[in-house]
Amino acid sequence: MLIDGYAALTAKAALQPHHYPPAELAGHDVLIKISHCGICHSDIHLIDNDWHVSSYPLVPGHEIIGEVVAVGTQVTGLRTGIRVGVGWQAGSCGSCAQCRGGHEQLCAQNMATCVGRPGGFATYVIAQDKFAVPIPATLASDVAAPLLCAGITVFSPLARYQVGPGVRVGVVGIGGLGHLAVQFAHQMGAHVTAFSTTANKQDEAHRLGADHFVLTRAADAMAHAAGSCDLILTTASVDVDWEAFVKVLAPLGTLCVLGAAPHPVAVGAFGLIGGNKSISGSAIGDPATIARMLEVAANHGVAPQIERFAMRDVNTALTKVRANAVRYRAVLAN
Ligand code: NAP
Ligand code: ZN
Repeated sequence: MLIDGYAALTAKAALQPHHYPPAELAGHDVLIKISHCGICHSDIHLIDNDWHVSSYPLVPGHEIIGEVVAVGTQVTGLRTGIRVGVGWQAGSCGSCAQCRGGHEQLCAQNMATCVGRPGGFATYVIAQDKFAVPIPATLASDVAAPLLCAGITVFSPLARYQVGPGVRVGVVGIGGLGHLAVQFAHQMGAHVTAFSTTANKQDEAHRLGADHFVLTRAADAMAHAAGSCDLILTTASVDVDWEAFVKVLAPLGTLCVLGAAPHPVAVGAFGLIGGNKSISGSAIGDPATIARMLEVAANHGVAPQIERFAMRDVNTALTKVRANAVRYRAVLAN
């Protein structure tokens, strides 16, 4: 059998059809027949080699939904026919303190789904059983796909910071991650402010659950928002005005960095000291939290707003993502 995928052959290149045999299944691996795969901005960072970890041919894709079609000899929790999702992480060592403590995403040997191995812009993918999470029956596969990376990446810090009624959450960048952050924070009862560079996202941001919308480049808009958020999640794939967002934090507030901004997060010491403010980061989420996030989405109507593309139209979809023109997640279908 050959897998039909789409690969970048060099950095920044358009993807081309690429065919390769599946790797041999290790004991805990499962082979998944892919029905859908979302396009995360991390796929674009990888195609462009922004993080200097890419090797080519590179088959991107890590918001995968599909059906288990083969299992390794040590797999007990999954069987063929089960619908599962795989996100950024396809494996971990399973024995370090982080893995044993339920923080598998922090394992030093964590295996990314599409770094150094072919990902989800393809007909099949392989992942360790623990990282292939069953999908609740009520979630449609195309809508579920973006939850596997965008969804968990925003849900995990919202849960960790115990967001609930009375907490004022800011979301910077209303894209794949951001539009789900607005929905999950709203569902948790928070007061939500969307910070965007795109004026025509305002109405949709309110419909998704934002109480306020701040057009960040409007004169005085950021100054008016000073002190208005307890927790800010930054999801922009570009540098933002970090100093200005530290000022948007209320005393004791936290700015949690999710987007892979290319340059250092530079802020003056006194902006943090003055209000006992913190800057933190957060990486995806562990498999148990992914399962919990999927249940919340299924039971409380949190749903990615998607634009559908055929897998063969992957380059058309990528061009639209690069132009910040997708509302709000492109999903490829086989
Ligand atoms: P996306 O769908 O492309 O959304 C990014 C948003 O950034 C845009 O919608 C836009 O929102 C905002 N933005 C501001 N200035 C921009 C500019 N000049 N060009 C493009 N966008 C601009 O991306 P995503 O999939 O949500 O991913 C966002 C970032 O998170 C990426 O850097 C990705 O690698 C990273 N990420 C991190 C993790 C993690 O574990 N921490 C997981 C997944 C992704 P407005 O129009 O509202 O301004
Ligand atoms: Zn991602």
